[in-house]
Amino acid sequence: MLFPRPPGARRGLPARDVALLSALPATELSDLLVRSGGSPTQAHATTAKVVRYVLGGDVGFGALDPRWDELTLQALGIGAWAHGALLGLSARASLELAERAPASDGSERLLLRAGDGALVETVIIPGPGRTTVCISSQVGCARACSFCETGALGLERQLDAAEIVDQIRVARALWGSKSPPIQNVVFMGMGEPFDNLAEVARATHILTDDRGLKLSPSRVTVSTVGVADKLEAFFRTCRAELAVSLNAPDDARRSAIMPVNERFPLATLIDALRTHTPRGHKVLFEYVLIGGFNDARADADLVADLVAPVRCRVNVIPVNPGPDPAHRAPTPEAMNQFVARLAERGVTTLVRRPRGRDVGGACGQLAGAARARGSLPLA
Ligand code: SF4
Repeated sequence: MLFPRPPGARRGLPARDVALLSALPATELSDLLVRSGGSPTQAHATTAKVVRYVLGGDVGFGALDPRWDELTLQALGIGAWAHGALLGLSARASLELAERAPASDGSERLLLRAGDGALVETVIIPGPGRTTVCISSQVGCARACSFCETGALGLERQLDAAEIVDQIRVARALWGSKSPPIQNVVFMGMGEPFDNLAEVARATHILTDDRGLKLSPSRVTVSTVGVADKLEAFFRTCRAELAVSLNAPDDARRSAIMPVNERFPLATLIDALRTHTPRGHKVLFEYVLIGGFNDARADADLVADLVAPVRCRVNVIPVNPGPDPAHRAPTPEAMNQFVARLAERGVTTLVRRPRGRDVGGACGQLAGAARARGSLPLA
């Protein structure tokens, strides 16, 4: 358990004892139904009904624990041959809402609790055209990037595919029918997705299946710190776009803030991206701009040289207040100059403003604060 349970705390979700439907890609559910006696055609049609009911059902908190019994299956038009197999699975979400923190900019940070009490952060970020949900892939993280609150927590455990997918279910239940709808998912919350790649891959299949949440793979982005030896596996197994946290223009500075750079220095990372990025894909580089550290005009030139071999765009993000007080935000002038120089060098560049700053805008801050308080009602 991540936190000690305070005396008298309410008991939350039970620990997992049956397999969850939200952990099953549609192809696996279909195979299970064939093994249970259905024809491939029957299994395909039944899978569509089940997944639509469980993941694509009406929004609202009822969708997190939908009725799941013989009567429900009959009402869905599912033949008796499939009832035994389906009722052996649970339609319940694996996470429940522990805390929500709306920010003045419209984003909303959620703290979700798993059956074992582990706490997971998810953020809903409304945009002009679509709403994005930023999800976590691990509880905590082992990568120890110096600008990141989650890195300071250390790795508690991996999330499974159900716990990844159910972050979207909870977000949808809260968001309801508000506009713009949730159509974009980014793996930029707690954790390094490449350190949990098998479950992340399963989740991307569930999120993008036509029978489930129906997200376009181009609207699902997985962000890595640059675990170069897993790039080939990522592109082979995940239905998602790739983002890479770059954050420094040379190895010395990158190693100072991102320990992963010792194992996979920039030349290795760029070479792996050049080799493994499939045709038609563009890599999104994220560059956290830290005042006086990596924001000089000459640094923009180094970045432009670095990314030149890769089809890409660069998102520049002014640093959030984090665990290292030496990391201060860049001045507006420095940021404008940096972005302008990248653009002059022909690099497609966007500035992304961190959202939810007043409620702990960097991932891990809400969980860290809850840990410090030790006051959440826990499972
Ligand atoms: S930035 Fe990402 S990889 Fe680095 S410590 Fe934070 S969660 Fe982990």
